[in-house]
Amino acid sequence: MREQFTVIFLLLILGLMTCVNIATRSRKKISRPVGLLLAALIPPVTGNLLIICSTVQLYADIGRYIYFIGMDFVMFALMKFTDAYCGRPEKRIALRNICYALLLIDAVQLFSNIFFGHAFGTEMIEVEGAPYYTFVPYIGQAFHRAVDYGLLVGVMIIFIARMIRAPRIYLERYAVIFITMMICAAWQTLYIFSRAPIDRSMIGFGVFGLLIFYFSLYYRPLRLLDRMLADVASQMNEALFFFDAGERCIWANEPAMKFSELTEDDLEKVPDFLEWRFEYIKDLHAEEWSSPYEIGTGDSKKYYFLDKHTLRDEKGRVTGSFLRVRDNTEEQKKLQRELWCASHDILTGLYTREFMYERIHQALTEDPDTDYYIVFVDVKNFKIVNDIFSTAFGDHALRRIAARIRGFSTENWVYGRLAGATFGVCLPVGEFQEEQLERRLSGFIVSDGNHEYHLLIHLGVYQVTDRSADVATMFDRAYVALSEIDEDYSRHIAYYDEELRSKLVWEQHISTQLGEAIANRQIQPYLQPIVDSSGRPVGAEALVRWIHPEDGFLSPGSFIPVFEKNGMIVEVDRYMWRCACEILSRWSDELPDLFISVNISPKDFYFMDVVSEIKGLTEEYGIEPRRLRIEITETVMMNDGEDRMRILNEFRELGFIVEMDDFGSGYSSLNMLKDMPVDVLKIDMKFLSISQNRDRARKIVQSIIGLSADLGIESLTEGVEAEYQYNALHEMGCKLFQGYLFSKPVPVADFEKYCRDSR
Ligand code: C2E
Ligand code: CA
Ligand code: CA
Repeated sequence: MREQFTVIFLLLILGLMTCVNIATRSRKKISRPVGLLLAALIPPVTGNLLIICSTVQLYADIGRYIYFIGMDFVMFALMKFTDAYCGRPEKRIALRNICYALLLIDAVQLFSNIFFGHAFGTEMIEVEGAPYYTFVPYIGQAFHRAVDYGLLVGVMIIFIARMIRAPRIYLERYAVIFITMMICAAWQTLYIFSRAPIDRSMIGFGVFGLLIFYFSLYYRPLRLLDRMLADVASQMNEALFFFDAGERCIWANEPAMKFSELTEDDLEKVPDFLEWRFEYIKDLHAEEWSSPYEIGTGDSKKYYFLDKHTLRDEKGRVTGSFLRVRDNTEEQKKLQRELWCASHDILTGLYTREFMYERIHQALTEDPDTDYYIVFVDVKNFKIVNDIFSTAFGDHALRRIAARIRGFSTENWVYGRLAGATFGVCLPVGEFQEEQLERRLSGFIVSDGNHEYHLLIHLGVYQVTDRSADVATMFDRAYVALSEIDEDYSRHIAYYDEELRSKLVWEQHISTQLGEAIANRQIQPYLQPIVDSSGRPVGAEALVRWIHPEDGFLSPGSFIPVFEKNGMIVEVDRYMWRCACEILSRWSDELPDLFISVNISPKDFYFMDVVSEIKGLTEEYGIEPRRLRIEITETVMMNDGEDRMRILNEFRELGFIVEMDDFGSGYSSLNMLKDMPVDVLKIDMKFLSISQNRDRARKIVQSIIGLSADLGIESLTEGVEAEYQYNALHEMGCKLFQGYLFSKPVPVADFEKYCRDSR
């Protein structure tokens, strides 16, 4: 009996020491209090081992002290462990400190039994024929028991509270330790009352320690894991079907149950259901696969993504599999919407420019045998529609145009909105019906029920010749063609053709050379004399000439309109004004009374402060302002009339003489004359088509001259080619004349000679 217990206790000690060793090496937070508790259990077991083995009283006494005081240490460690295992120790700080104090007092009083003998005494009995020293409890021992039992009860209460509060799933975690504690306590109590010589309950303590070791450090509540995994799986949006190795469905999460509309009892129907739902699942039971599926059509179409995974154990045997069914419908529809938005214009529903370019490029490359037109559709003055009516009406108009294009189109067309009120179309040449289009475009009316507006729509057409060119460039060409019909209200369609192309090439050619031409004096002023009624030159008009090294003598008609269009006229004029000032300053001695008229293009007013520019030049060359005459045309007054009026007045106030050029050529009316701040009216004979109806022309000129004289405006007739014109104009009261009759525009030196000769 003694030997048996010796072995058992030794084994327990060994086991506890091993566990302490493992616990101290674990990195878990709980491992320290566990290690402490296991270590604390070693002394009482050792103490008991000593008691059992001893046949000498001293050793038995030592063992007993180790046992009793060790139990205080066990209680201390148990409290520490309980704090860590059950949590929330902060609630019991004060109470715990009292407990620690009690334990300390108990340990001290047990130790002092050496001196006072108040706690227990020793009694020798005979066990298995050998002396065995059992103990006799006194009052101190009663205190010891009260403290230890009290604390044990306290700890058990904490465990009970934990068990009540914890979710059911955690119950076993506390219950196992609680029950073991109960057993240990009961066993110990039994020992105390049975007064058996050997404390067998020590075995319980040892087992208790080992259980704590296992539950704290290694126990995984598998049921808990199960539940948690099932919960997580059910909370996923994806439907999950789990199969065992025999491909029977053993579990499905909530979305899967909903998706299949099956109940837990119908799980065996899952494979059939899946094969029916995704009719073309080839082999549901294949091990690993994934595939997208589309079910239904139109708006109710659903998109799914399925993937199947097979699970294996460490030996590679199939243990089960699961199928995931993800409903992608929202994502897919969103993607499609985004794709649509990125490629379509929201307002009109047509392609965006970039997407249209892409599609056109594709059409051109995929169909190399068909000839295509690129059409630039432009709504003229669309801004007015927005301004007069409303943006809403403008939007409505754009939608109508888009609908019209869509209506005309066949599946061979690619079309879209370029920007603002411009659209683009690419269509086979054979499908472009010019006459029909012309007819339709000339009467394009939009109405929203309240308003009606006649839209002017122009088409610039480019036939694709070079398919490798950028689609953007093709549209640029179609756009360029549009410029040909800007002023022509009877036409709505213009083509980019060879003539237009060479015109553009020419424009490009001269535009790049202008700067150099000015610097090299290829650009020169020619002077055309202006004479008085006696035929004597009183001044000249400076007219630009370009003596081009390759293209020869260029008259302004070939380049002025180009530069007026692109704004480079500013450079020409600025240079011409400087030349005029230079000439005038040179004439200051010999020809001090002569003036020079310079032309000012309407565009000049947009790009510079014309007054300060010209004033600056006259100051630089020291020229009296009246010697530099300013020629403007009536188109200058067409835009921003008031501002231009102010500018002309400024010129006049500074002493410049302002001439109205080409009077009668455009929209000018006699009525407008009275408000015009000009000094001289230049009437161009060519606008009066004299040859056709001499009498009528005569009357018109007569009245213009008469009226302007009444208004204090001097008349100058230009384009005078014949003697009879000169005489007639003279009679009508015209004071100044200019024309081939007197001289063509000539180089400055020739003009100077002309003046000398006519003196
Ligand atoms: P314009 O200002 O009306 O100039 C008069 C034009 O009539 C000149 O043509 C001149 O050569 C021409 N001409 C003069 N007498 C007769 C005649 O008896 N019969 C006919 N048939 N024509 C006559 P040019 O020099 O070719 O200039 C054409 C236009 O170019 C000018 O018309 C003017 O608008 C513009 N221009 C010329 N030089 C300049 C310039 O330096 N700056 C600007 N902005 N425009 C200029
Ligand atoms: Ca002129
Ligand atoms: Ca003129």
